[in-house]
Amino acid sequence: MKAIQVSKFGQPEVLQYTDIDRPTPAIDEVLIKVKAIGVNPVDTYIRSGKYPVLPSLPYIPGSDVAGIIEQCGSQEPSFTCGTRVYTCGTISGGYAQRVTAKTSQVFHLPDGISFQEGASLGVPATTAWRALFIRGCAQAGEKVFIHGASSSVGMCAVQMARAAGLKVYGTAGTKAGIDRLKSLGISGVWNHREQEYLSTLQKELQNNRFNLILEMLANVNLSRDMELLAPRGRVVVIGSRGTITFDPRSTMGPELDIRGLSLFNSTGEELKQAQAGIQAALTTGTLKPVIARVFSLEDACKAHQQVMANGKCGKILLTP
Ligand code: NAP
Repeated sequence: MKAIQVSKFGQPEVLQYTDIDRPTPAIDEVLIKVKAIGVNPVDTYIRSGKYPVLPSLPYIPGSDVAGIIEQCGSQEPSFTCGTRVYTCGTISGGYAQRVTAKTSQVFHLPDGISFQEGASLGVPATTAWRALFIRGCAQAGEKVFIHGASSSVGMCAVQMARAAGLKVYGTAGTKAGIDRLKSLGISGVWNHREQEYLSTLQKELQNNRFNLILEMLANVNLSRDMELLAPRGRVVVIGSRGTITFDPRSTMGPELDIRGLSLFNSTGEELKQAQAGIQAALTTGTLKPVIARVFSLEDACKAHQQVMANGKCGKILLTP
């Protein structure tokens, strides 16, 4: 079968389109015939070799696929061949025509949800759910600000937060991103590429600050986030691509919480809870993944360049 293999860490060009043997599922695994593959920023961090936890070489990147169950391990009663599924993690690696995954990483794809939409869920939707409801403890009636709401994680969070009764605000860096967020029903949106956007935002909101912030670029925004939070507000750090200097005193008077998030820490129970919420939202139509661009599997190198570009406003996918 065809797959993308990485034999040395480095630039996108290390993603090699190659022939490898089809994997065989272990007793608690399934084999999935892949129809669509989600590309996430973390795939690029790992590929570059600059991530705290690295796979041994060679490896096949990718955690999020959607497809059809083709074979079940010998102790696997929860799936039957032909079932439409999506994954939050694989064993053999996602950028391939077939993958093996533990059944605890595999979830039913609701009727009416396409494979491309299914492949957009694993990392982004699960992160959004965890950030809002597990790390962020979001409550109906609260105000949430999503700094980088035009991200794949952000657009899932906008939809989930609205459905849960929060008032949702956020930022994007392009007019297309702002328009997209308006179409998702956001209550207020600002452009994070405009110099004075935070001052404008503060003036517009006056003292009506946010209870919760989901932060996609903490190394740029964390210090200013402290000025946007209401007393006892929380910020969940989802993305950060560098360091920042800020005055910890700003957290003291208003008793602000800075909460880190790593999807890799999800317990089995949290994963199940998040998928139940995501599947219900897909079924009722309150969550619809936004897709920006689809590349063929052999163009994984271009997909890795694109996933790190600004202004794409949606999910980057591969099709095998
Ligand atoms: P994505 O779709 O590539 O989105 C990146 C976002 O960052 C874009 O919406 C971009 O907006 C926005 N951005 C650019 N400059 C910004 C600024 N100054 N302030 C705020 N936002 C800004 O990425 P994703 O897949 O949704 O992931 C979002 C981030 O979370 C990434 O850094 C990713 O690595 C991280 N993440 C972490 C976890 C975890 O476990 N902690 C899990 C998933 C993702 P425009 O393009 O509109 O300018």
